[in-house]
Amino acid sequence: MLDGLKTGLRAALKKIVNSSAVDESLIKELSKDIQRALLQSDVNVKLVFQITKNLEERSLKETPPPGLSRKDHIVKILYDELAKLLGTEEQYVFQPGKVNKVLMLGIQGSGKTTVTSKLAKLLTRQGYRVAVIGADTYRPGALTQLKTMCEKTNVEVYGEEGNKDSPEIVKNGLKHFEGQSFDIILIDTAGRHKEEKDLLDEMTRIGKVADPDLALLIIDGTIGQQCYNQAEAFHKTVPVGGIIITKLDSSAKGGGALAAAAATGAQIMYIGTGERIDDLEKFSPTRFVGRMLG
Ligand code: GDP
Repeated sequence: MLDGLKTGLRAALKKIVNSSAVDESLIKELSKDIQRALLQSDVNVKLVFQITKNLEERSLKETPPPGLSRKDHIVKILYDELAKLLGTEEQYVFQPGKVNKVLMLGIQGSGKTTVTSKLAKLLTRQGYRVAVIGADTYRPGALTQLKTMCEKTNVEVYGEEGNKDSPEIVKNGLKHFEGQSFDIILIDTAGRHKEEKDLLDEMTRIGKVADPDLALLIIDGTIGQQCYNQAEAFHKTVPVGGIIITKLDSSAKGGGALAAAAATGAQIMYIGTGERIDDLEKFSPTRFVGRMLG
């Protein structure tokens, strides 16, 4: 995953580790190498310069804490700054003792239906009682796809084949699951309409009917830093509480996608790392950076 970025960052680090002495020119060189690696991964140029500015300033000014060599301290600064770029370590907690209604948003092809099934499985594994409502009435086959994927994990999917009124399906679905003591209901929505305005109108109507506890936005990681604009557009319609970036296994621009999503202020909650049902991971900035730096 993100092999290009990983290689670039690791090569930059190696220079520091193998150098005989740390001086200003070495720090500047490190900074340039990091810039190159991040830009190649489509991280927004402003964010790249911010991070390397912090890296240079801190590396030159800060005295390493006792027990930490100058080199190790620089590595730690880089680690901190990269993790900061990817958001906070805070984790969303589903509310106990009530049904948590989660709206799954995203444009067609982003991986929304796949993620809904993956998440249903992951949360079930964690001990939650999960149900799904399939309200993507626009894309033919979406409901069947959802049912087929969820069947394997015994998660019930409510859908109405032939009914095109998504908000009504959501309403009926919530009624259907009422009193069955589910912890989480995931609601899959449409990702496309003839007009973008129609889609956003539908999201607003579904938002009203569902009164969601959390709206999760699914974004295709291959679009890189464009994630920012997409997240902003959805956020204006339904407040986005968390983001899931998909296709990080197949994207050279994944670093840019993650940084852009984090820059919106919404938390990246999960990442999609493949087409199989188990290819969904909880996202933690520090763990992710740890994996990148090796
Ligand atoms: P939707 O239109 O947003 O519901 O998109 P789908 O869930 O149908 O996914 C679109 C395509 O992306 C499918 O072929 C999925 O298998 C694929 N896909 C989804 N998530 C991932 C991922 O994390 N990695 C890869 N490589 N493919 C993915």
